[in-house]
Amino acid sequence: MWRFGLTCWAVLLLCSVGFASAIQGGASQHASITRHLKRHPVVALTFDDLPAAGGLRSGETRVDIATRLVRELKTHHLKGVYGFVTAVDLQGDPDTQQALRVWMKAGMKIGNHTWSHPSLTEVDADEFINNIALDEPALHEYSARKDWHWFRYPYLQEGNTLDKRNAVRFWLEAHGYRIAQVTLDFGDDDWGDPYLRCMGKQDEAGIAWLRQSYIANAKELIRFGRVEEDIAFGHEIPNVLLLHATDFTVLMLPDLMQMLRREGFRFKSLSAVERNSIYGVDPGIALADGGPLPKQFLVLHHLESPQLTPEPVRQLDAVCR
Ligand SMILES: [Zn+2]
Repeated sequence: MWRFGLTCWAVLLLCSVGFASAIQGGASQHASITRHLKRHPVVALTFDDLPAAGGLRSGETRVDIATRLVRELKTHHLKGVYGFVTAVDLQGDPDTQQALRVWMKAGMKIGNHTWSHPSLTEVDADEFINNIALDEPALHEYSARKDWHWFRYPYLQEGNTLDKRNAVRFWLEAHGYRIAQVTLDFGDDDWGDPYLRCMGKQDEAGIAWLRQSYIANAKELIRFGRVEEDIAFGHEIPNVLLLHATDFTVLMLPDLMQMLRREGFRFKSLSAVERNSIYGVDPGIALADGGPLPKQFLVLHHLESPQLTPEPVRQLDAVCR
């Protein structure tokens, strides 16, 4: 169970360590801090928007995607991976229902991602809380008695006012949830629609570029997230990687796993990762656009993010048009 209050000593410690790290970096902050990165960082993979993330190719089913996804996870001996469910997608759809059964039967777990994926920035706390509660019957039904009391905020938006933020957190704690925070997010789902377009046109060059740019972007953004941690906390922490169970991320998972292993990553469960005490600290900041946990601390302490090569948004929008 996370703690709500951020004690004064914790604020001072995090702040001073973060500032010390930033000051040591000075003008060449990026290069300096990169040297501190661990040889063997830790990560828990998590998948959002089950059981219907992104679009489908013609003739493809949700069961196909879930089957390929669990096969790849099992190849890497990963069990108990959390998938965060929006139960609206289960309504009257035997394909999505069976896809979720495939996920559970393979030894994976599910958590709450709200019923219909509202933005907490756009709805009030009561509406948002009702939407969380509405997801619970499906979690009961499909969870095979495994613990589903983990919550992932849609869009990583935790409330654009402190009142909303605190109201939702209070409800979550009262109902036995832990927040499935995120430290690493490379926008994997932004490749989903371009891939469907390229497949529709059988555009091999376009698909090749999508594959190459997906891994390059993952590598860059994952390093960026780790450096952000170093700035925010003075050291890296065990990570939670946000992925989506889209057709393209499932296709790319072997390459992604290979890249993560080359970067030295070791894999742990979500609950093992979030035993780190930093996950128990609430930065207590209201951000309209939300974001991963390290970013929240950077904003709180007025620390600058490291430089990065941004996601190729324009190329993604233009490819295979
Ligand atoms: Zn989502």
